[in-house]
Formats: sequence, structure tokens, C-alpha cells
Amino acid sequence: MLRVCVFCGSKSGDRAEYAESAEQLGQWLARGGHTLIYGGGSTGMMGLLAEAVLAERGAVIGVITEHLARPELMHAGVCDMRITRDMHARKALMHELSDVYVGLPGGFGTLEELFEAVTWAQLELHARPVLLLNVAGLYDGLIRLLDDMTVHGFLSLRCRRLMTICSTDEELRMALQAIPQQSC
Ligand code: AMP
Repeated sequence: MLRVCVFCGSKSGDRAEYAESAEQLGQWLARGGHTLIYGGGSTGMMGLLAEAVLAERGAVIGVITEHLARPELMHAGVCDMRITRDMHARKALMHELSDVYVGLPGGFGTLEELFEAVTWAQLELHARPVLLLNVAGLYDGLIRLLDDMTVHGFLSLRCRRLMTICSTDEELRMALQAIPQQSC
């Protein structure tokens, strides 16, 4: 069983595929007995993801800061909600609780959290897999940027490979399923 840290948007975007990816992943996590670690929000992709896990009676740990822990933002259905002093403590706790990181569609917050995870992998501070689900091509431009960074000598091929890009829900599930054999 994995403890899967998912970084995703506090908004759900303008395409049904984004919301569906959160719901699909949430269902799969719960049905597989995995634990979701996430930012504790009730809105957007975060809220949809947590609700999908809770609807299947799955395990969810929310990690939220004091300043975000307001009734209108924090998910009321998540029993195991950890409230941290600030964003640094929040991310440290999310890292401590997780076996693998997954990025779904999101904005600045999602990218910042995902890129911190992959940067720490690059520095060999951890060896946890970092997966990004490129739903409906949302991250095509980002993936091109990573490839350009590699071509122009800012990213080694080893580091480029630290972030696994999945193009479909099925690919993401297969990558997650492969983790116990690789590293747990
Ligand atoms: P973004 O991808 O920019 O939507 O950011 C997602 C991140 O924004 C989360 O992990 C949090 O750091 C923060 N955030 C914004 N709104 C909320 C919320 N309602 N609950 C929890 N975290 C939030």
C-alpha cells in the first residue's frame, strides 16, 4: 500500500477531463487501499480528489496551514487533518508522510510543490518517484521546456528522467503499481 502525495489545483479548470482525472485517481487510490496525502483543500481539483477517495471510504490525510484552515477552504469531511504553522512546515510534513508524488492539473502552487519534490530528488535528498499526469495536453508546453533545458545543458538526462510524465490515467496507475517492486 502506498502513501501517495498528490499536488493539484485549488481550481478545477475549464475542461471536464481535469476534474475526471482527480476523480479517477481518487477512486483508484481508495479501491487499492492506498492513502492520499494532499493539501487539505475543499475547492477545485483538491476537493474533487478528496471527495472521490472519501466516497469509496478510502484513507485521506490533509495537510494545511493555519492561514488556509478556514471553514470555506478546508475540507470538512477529512478527519485526519494536520494543521501546520506555515507552508514550509506543511511541505516538510507532506514529504515525511509520502512514498511517491503525483502532479495533476493545477497552477503556481501545484508546480511549486511538484518542482520542489523533483529538485530534492535531483539533490538525492530522497529517492521517491515523481509523476506528472499530463491531462489533455495541459503540460505540453512545460514538457517542451524540460526537453529544451536538457538539450541546452541545464538538465542532465538523469535529472530529466526523475520526473515521469504520464499521458493517460492508465499510464499513471501502471506507474504507481510498479512502485512497490522498484522501491518499497
Ligand atoms: P494552485 O495550483 O496554484 O491552485 O495551488 C494549489 C496550492 O494552493 C495548494 O497546495 C495550497 O498550497 C494552496 N491553496 C490554495 N487554495 C487552497 C485551499 N482552499 N486549501 C488548501 N490549499 C490551498
